[in-house]
Amino acid sequence: MKFAHEFKETLERECFPDHWLAAAIPYSQLKKCLKKVQRELESLGLDKETLQQLLAEQTVSPNGEPIPLVRYNLDHASSRSLRPCLSIFVHLRHGQVIDAALSPASRAFLQRLSGAHSRPSAIDSSACTTPLATPSPDVSSDDNDEDTEGELERIEVPLVFDGEFFNILQTDVDSLDALQQQEEKSMEAEIKSLGAEVSAVVGPPKRLAKSDLNRWREIFDLYVNAQVFFSSHELDHGSRSSVKAVQQLVWFQKQVQTRGLLQSFKVPSSAVAYSRFLQLNATLLQNLKFQEINKTAITKILKKFDKRTSLGASVTFRSAIRSRNFLAGSVAKKLCAQLSQEVVSTVPRAEDYDCPICFSIAWYPVRLRCSHLFCVRCVIKMQRENKKHCPLCRDEGVMNADLNNIDKSLEKFMKQYFRKETEEKQRANEIERGMEIFGDQYKHSSCVLM
Ligand SMILES: [Zn+2]
Ligand SMILES: [Zn+2]
Repeated sequence: MKFAHEFKETLERECFPDHWLAAAIPYSQLKKCLKKVQRELESLGLDKETLQQLLAEQTVSPNGEPIPLVRYNLDHASSRSLRPCLSIFVHLRHGQVIDAALSPASRAFLQRLSGAHSRPSAIDSSACTTPLATPSPDVSSDDNDEDTEGELERIEVPLVFDGEFFNILQTDVDSLDALQQQEEKSMEAEIKSLGAEVSAVVGPPKRLAKSDLNRWREIFDLYVNAQVFFSSHELDHGSRSSVKAVQQLVWFQKQVQTRGLLQSFKVPSSAVAYSRFLQLNATLLQNLKFQEINKTAITKILKKFDKRTSLGASVTFRSAIRSRNFLAGSVAKKLCAQLSQEVVSTVPRAEDYDCPICFSIAWYPVRLRCSHLFCVRCVIKMQRENKKHCPLCRDEGVMNADLNNIDKSLEKFMKQYFRKETEEKQRANEIERGMEIFGDQYKHSSCVLM
């Protein structure tokens, strides 16, 4: 399928909002403009083959260094527009192109061009169009003249449609930038308000008040594992494509369904918060799709431009373009970080409170003077073995730790949020302690009962 068709079809199929569509890359307009660019260049004798040839050649600067014969730049004419500048550097003597390295065709073209430029303004010292004498048909008469190497002149090839093409593109990137900024803002606000809603339904379980803490914990565990928009795995690290994001999102929803998490919600507003959470993900996905297809449109049209002109605009445009949002990064990455910070982390995860020595929950939590956190068992063992240094920062604070180092507020928090984990750890500690005193035959009372 031709890309123009695919682009149009995608924009229609995805039901993007109208104001998004208004900001989409005007692909067909650019394609039409590209035809004019091509015609303009051809009218100057610069068809793509000639340009390709000229771009491959070099000339010599006044201080003897090799420089490219042709330079193609996209400069900023003003803060809003790009100005393409195609300059050719040639040595001229008596109006004749004398660069020996040039192919006969290139030399003939430059001769024509320098001739064409010399006529309208004989002595014009503007930076771009350098004055040149009317070319003489007799080139060979200068061949023996060795006292001069000729003047290096810069000829700027005037390009009207090339400028138009890049201004359409820059203008559109500007509106995509503005759109994205606006979308990010509204999603940020939605993430914030959702975060508040979720934290209201996941309060620590209390005797009378209902809480969906454990269900939300499971939901967010699944969501974190799904890595919908961004992968932290070594194999495919980085932003996901929209196709992959859809797959991950479907997997996540299926898991939530299979485990019957929604049916077991106890707080009615949990269901509302969950559907808002899904909606937010859907909006993020729409944004990703819209960005993706527009970025592809830019890549495709620039590739077409280069194929028809040989000017290498794919590279030049990307370095000249100003795009703070749209081309600068991925909307998903930034918003996902915010989503995990403001929504997912409203549900504390036990893993975040693991003891770095035994890798289970740091219960009872002992905070050394260096502020690193360990479970009480591991601290006692370190003290018995006379290990003075904190394993994380080598501070000599281990032997000084006593009951005062128990982090009381964290202890309370852990009891509230990780009841199951702390009780398990407590039992494991008691068993270990019992074995230390009574030997391997020791059986914990709760084990005996079981
Ligand atoms: Zn430990
Ligand atoms: Zn430490």
